[in-house]
Amino acid sequence: SRQGYLNIRLIHSEYEELQERLEEFRNRNEQLDLLDYNKCPHSPVWTIIRQGLDYIKIAYRFVFRVVPIEINVRHASVVVKETEVQLKDESQLECGNQKKRRKILACVVGDAAMNVHFWPGRGMNSGMKAAMALARNIVRLFISNTLPAQIQVYTPLRYLDFVDYEAFMTRLRAREQQGRSLRVTSNPIDGSVENAHAFSHLNVCYEHYISTLIEKLKTTRQLLQGRREWPHRHRLVTDDEVQAASNRISANAVAQLSLANPWPTREMAGPEVLVEDYFPMDEHKLLPLPSTGAHVAATGPSRKAASSSKQDLVVSLVITLTKFSL
Ligand SMILES: Cc1cc2nc3c(=O)[nH]c(=O)nc-3n(C[C@H](O)[C@H](O)[C@H](O)COP(=O)(O)OP(=O)(O)OC[C@H]3O[C@@H](n4cnc5c(N)ncnc54)[C@H](O)[C@@H]3O)c2cc1C
Repeated sequence: SRQGYLNIRLIHSEYEELQERLEEFRNRNEQLDLLDYNKCPHSPVWTIIRQGLDYIKIAYRFVFRVVPIEINVRHASVVVKETEVQLKDESQLECGNQKKRRKILACVVGDAAMNVHFWPGRGMNSGMKAAMALARNIVRLFISNTLPAQIQVYTPLRYLDFVDYEAFMTRLRAREQQGRSLRVTSNPIDGSVENAHAFSHLNVCYEHYISTLIEKLKTTRQLLQGRREWPHRHRLVTDDEVQAASNRISANAVAQLSLANPWPTREMAGPEVLVEDYFPMDEHKLLPLPSTGAHVAATGPSRKAASSSKQDLVVSLVITLTKFSL
């Protein structure tokens, strides 16, 4: 079977309207059915979805799920933080029955550290880069500079031990959020939706909108088909097909598509932020995999050293650190 997604950009009021309509389906425990006009009438929000499907010629019967996704481009102000936790274990209570508190270091990665607009995307990529950078920061802390390299574990860890990870994440956030996601969010479509509602019923406006839309489609076609890696060379889109796609949607949909700005793809271009630039892999410091699963815990109030296998060390630290959120 083949599956696909149709993404339609909504303004906030349309998003809220869709949430309410879908909630009704959930409350009645019913399947979505775009062919049932009693359940999905010709109201504005269902019309937007049907128009999107008509535009790219997908039959309504194939749609089994509609998911509104709110785009929140947010980030944590810091990705490393020294924080205090209260020990729960009774045996760890101090003599005076005071609850003991311990300072720990918390690091966040992935969407908890920053999230992006899903169209320019790379949220998962960024999360994996963050995890790699954090792991390499940990390894760098504990591998001795002398040869042969040895693991020297010390605690407690401090914020300053992770400033390189913080710096990497600042750069990554600037690239992915400022450089890509905010290019999209700072380019709203509200104005074009309002204008489409105001003018699309006038014939003279419709003529202008449809000719603009057709020109836009032809420009996009030329751009895509001119790319060396374009995979559909055996099936080029004709002028008649461009015209037919524009003809089969409503005057309002024509106006919206004609007025809305395209995604600012060019503004998003730029070099990637690479883990390797901040945490280069030093092959001299690679250690052999351990032959036993022995795990040496190194805890306590003083910064003390112990030997451990590289594999054990990284796994146990990452689990501990990610248990806490900032
Ligand atoms: C529609 C869409 C398309 C996307 N496409 C792409 C793409 O093409 N490429 C790309 O790189 N990225 C893409 N992304 C982004 C990507 O999915 C995310 O960036 C990535 O999944 C984030 O991973 P994460 O582990 O940080 O967070 P999540 O995947 O959100 O995992 C967090 C987990 O923590 C759990 N959790 C939350 N609170 C608690 C709690 N209190 N206790 C215990 N568990 C909890 C959640 O249930 C969840 O399982 C897309 C996202 C969306 C929404």
